[in-house]
This record gives sequence, C-alpha cells and structure tokens, in this order.
Amino acid sequence: MPEKPPKSALPIDDIPEALRDTPYLGRRQRQWQPILLFGGLLGLGAIALIIGILVPRPVSESDASTPVQNQIPGIQTPSATPEANTLFGHFPYQEAPQSELEAITADGRLKMRKTAARQYIAMVAAARASGVIIVPISGFRSITEQQHLYFDTKAQRGQSAAERAKVSAPPGHSEHHTGYAIDVGDGRVPATNLSPNFEKTAAFKWLQKNAPYYSFEISFPRNNPQGVSYEPWHWRYVGDRDSLETFYKAKQFGGGAQPSGDRSVVSPTNPNPNTSP
Ligand SMILES: [Zn+2]
Repeated sequence: MPEKPPKSALPIDDIPEALRDTPYLGRRQRQWQPILLFGGLLGLGAIALIIGILVPRPVSESDASTPVQNQIPGIQTPSATPEANTLFGHFPYQEAPQSELEAITADGRLKMRKTAARQYIAMVAAARASGVIIVPISGFRSITEQQHLYFDTKAQRGQSAAERAKVSAPPGHSEHHTGYAIDVGDGRVPATNLSPNFEKTAAFKWLQKNAPYYSFEISFPRNNPQGVSYEPWHWRYVGDRDSLETFYKAKQFGGGAQPSGDRSVVSPTNPNPNTSP
C-alpha cells in the first residue's frame, strides 16, 4: 500500500493529478467530487481514505502477479500437500554422509548410520541367542547405486516407471539413502529373501515381536498408505531424533528433499536388482 500523504500536505490540486494516471480512477474521482467540495476537513480525511483504498486496486486488477500484490499481508501461496512431494508414493530422502556410516558386516560391505548399525548388531545378536538367524541383504545405498537399480532394471524388464516404482524407489527417494533402512533375510531359508514369503520365517516372526525393543519398525506393511508393495524384509531404525524426523517429517511435510553433496559415495552394497526400496 502506498503511504497516506499527511493531511496537512494534501492540497486539493494534487488529487486529480494522482488519479489522472488511471482513467478508471478518474471516473471514481468525479463521483466523489460533491463530497470533496462540501466536506471541509472531513472531506480531506475522506480523500486520504479514498487514496488508500483505491490506488492499489488497478495494480491487482491489471497484473495479479505483480510483486506489489505479494507484499499485501495475508496473501500467501498455499503450501504443497505431502502427496505432491512424493514420486510414485516414495518420499524424497537425503543421502547419509559417508562419515556417519558404520559397517554391519565383517567384510564392511554393508553399512548403516552409526546409531542404527549398533542397534541392528545388538538385535541380530539377541535373535541368534534365541536360535534365529537374521542376515543383512542391503543397507545404505547411494543415490548413484539406486539410479542403476531403478533405471537399468526397469529397462531390462521393459517396465513402466510406475510399475518399477512399486518394487524399487526412484533414485533420491529410497529409505536406504538415509542409512537407517535395512533389508534382512532368514539365514535358514534364503529362498524367501526379498519375497513376501519372508513373513512365514522364524526371523520375521522374531522381528515382529522384538524389533521395537531396538527401535526398528517395518516400513511398508500390507496396504500401506504410500501404495508401495508389502515388504516384510524392509525395516528402518527410528530410535533417535534424526531418524524419527527423517521418516515422520518427510511424511508430514515432504521435507528432507535436498540431496546432499555426498554423491561420490559408491560402494556396491547391493547388486541384487530385485532388492527393495
Ligand atoms: Zn529395502
């Protein structure tokens, strides 16, 4: 809004000059002339009010996208819905910095974020003490690795982007980028690896009962609202503030979308094209 001219510095002559710039306002001004002539001081107040109300109007009528309109308080662009920020139901995720990763296998091939890695190792040890063998299949995955996993396999199989997205997240949208997610199998029944049949194994049943004690949860249960295929083998760590915000803020606000600069990390942790999001 333009500033109101001070009443004392508001000679009658200035008003027509300001309003002559726009013919539309000129007509309005003539309608108000009787009031201006007979209103005295009250009229001057009215003029100031009229200027305040009328001058911005041609701006918004002639060009709604003008920056002036953006300065009007209370007018804001509506924020995007969470759905608008997903890609085939997959939320965007940052890639964990290499410095945050720790090995979960003796050969160092599979990694997770430090906090998640330690809890995972403790969980697997507890399972083993109960006679259940949980084996890791895929942990942290870089965006570059996911790129191959998603596009190369899609091309090999002649899948549509949407079809592929049901079983593999597009690059930049995999929970595995975060370092908090892990695909596991039952060491005694490797035939069920990355299959819905994994839910029938002792490993799955043990996890269902005990994983919450180690702050792990299943990411894609049956009929999940994201529309991703049921994946009993894919679990994620939600046991500290960062992991919790990573997964639950992403769902609420679609946040955490900016890929980090750590894309040079390429470790072939998961060459299996059937692997999960
Ligand atoms: Zn997975």
